Amino acid sequence: MKLALEQARAAADRGEVPVGAVIVAPDGQVVAADGNRTRELNDPTAHAEILALRAACAQVKSERLPDHDLYVTLEPCAMCAAALAAARIRRVYYGASDPKSGGVAHGARVFSHPQTHHRPEVYDGIAADEAAALLKQFFAAQRS
Ligand SMILES: [Zn+2]
Repeated sequence: MKLALEQARAAADRGEVPVGAVIVAPDGQVVAADGNRTRELNDPTAHAEILALRAACAQVKSERLPDHDLYVTLEPCAMCAAALAAARIRRVYYGASDPKSGGVAHGARVFSHPQTHHRPEVYDGIAADEAAALLKQFFAAQRS
């Protein structure tokens, strides 16, 4: 999660919403790490989780990542949660809760939905205070 927070900080430095994600292989190696790049790439789907998923899948040359774990600083949105289920990610560790756009514990609750392809183990609140502080800082700076 420390690495995910670093990615979130790097995203903030690029003017992106500070969210960072890391994917770890079964052997504990980090296979992908990225932060939000929706503005940079002019791509509304360029969330940290999606970019990390794409990079990890490309690296292991598979559309699925069973036995891989994802660390992300913010509760995944419905789009990302659906992508993580499709990738058969083993565990999802997330930081801050996102009542507004989250799709795991809020809104669509993708992993609890009967249509989900896969239910990863979910661990929330990991370094949540730090992740939430980054977001708060970012949005406060945007408003001023
Ligand atoms: Zn997302």
